[in-house]
Amino acid sequence: MREVILVLNAGSSSLKFALFEMGASGVAQRALLSGQLDGLGARAHFRCKGAEGEILAESEPALAADPARAHSGALAFLLDWLGAHNENLHVCAAGHRIVHGGSRYSAPQRLGAALVDELEALVPLAPLHQPHNLAAVRALAALRPELPQIGCFDTAFHRSQPPLAQMFALPRALSQDGVRRYGFHGLSYEYIAGVLPQHLGARAGGRVLVLHLGNGASWCALKDQKSVASSMGFTALDGLMMGTRCGNLDPGVLLYLMQYHGLGVEGLTDLLYKRSGLLGVSGISQDMRTLETSADPAAREAIALFCYRIVREIGSAAAALGGLDALVFTAGIGQHSAQVRARVCSECAWLGLDFDADANARQAACISRPDSRVTALVIPTDEEWMIARHTARLLMH
Ligand code: ADP
Repeated sequence: MREVILVLNAGSSSLKFALFEMGASGVAQRALLSGQLDGLGARAHFRCKGAEGEILAESEPALAADPARAHSGALAFLLDWLGAHNENLHVCAAGHRIVHGGSRYSAPQRLGAALVDELEALVPLAPLHQPHNLAAVRALAALRPELPQIGCFDTAFHRSQPPLAQMFALPRALSQDGVRRYGFHGLSYEYIAGVLPQHLGARAGGRVLVLHLGNGASWCALKDQKSVASSMGFTALDGLMMGTRCGNLDPGVLLYLMQYHGLGVEGLTDLLYKRSGLLGVSGISQDMRTLETSADPAAREAIALFCYRIVREIGSAAAALGGLDALVFTAGIGQHSAQVRARVCSECAWLGLDFDADANARQAACISRPDSRVTALVIPTDEEWMIARHTARLLMH
């Protein structure tokens, strides 16, 4: 039997998964297989790829249409499929991506019923993700009560930030009530922090700014490979412009929209999370690839604003770090968009970044010149592997 760890990332209507093999020296670097179930609660779609990216399965399974049982049905289907696909695999634990661990959890935890109840109290802080993350934990506990489940929090890596970096200038009572900066994308930043020595050697402990630019986008300032500041705060809305989210916004805009446009909580949530960002400004798409191939001036302006916001924020992050030794690009846009990297890096000459346009165009790992004071790197992130590694470690201790 091959021992494997099942990594799960449960959303409102989707369940992403990956399987990592455990060996004597820890978790394998590459997933044995990965995929997702979409359209949960409606018309489900299942897709699974092998280690080389080859399609292993694609189907439209008949799952419960009842949204309350969506995760339960999806997990039952997935476990059955895995058993039938390869009866030599033994799932020995599940590692979950849990968006919020509050101010208490700075490391992954074993998910017993009491902890899941405690995490439920954080639902108001992450209403779009936390309920679904926890629903999957409960559903799996009912299906496989004996299976150890580990929660890995997107907020945990940021608990090393100094107190000032975690505060808003609001009355103290609100802060004590949990209205503070938590930071997100922590599993991605933790992965990048861990591989920095391979790229920077002893300079990995210096002042490093990581730009995680995917559908969600944020930055994290690292010193000694630990988070000292981040652009996402109380929710995943703050900071950089994103695919459909606005990023930094004058709070006065919200007051105006409530007072003069009659927008309530639902309307504002929809506007700020789903209709803003690249999609809102371009009026065309949230997808950077689509915008890059469009000749429409609104698409160009959306990309220009996306880059401008990053450049402004780099100034803020460099101030928090007291200077900059390295800039790292990661996630879909960071890893693949040479145009975005070029626009951002060429505005960072004042920081001592000597950009290598040729290296950038050929998607090299290092896109600054050898004598550049600031090293610019492109490093693929791997949040699933990070979860698998945490899960294996907790299992062994
Ligand atoms: P998520 O945050 O959902 O995990 P990703 O990290 O996969 O998202 O990033 C998705 C973004 O990356 C999309 O805007 C997509 O257009 C962009 N992207 C992916 N490949 C490319 C590419 N070759 N060129 C430009 N943008 C790309």
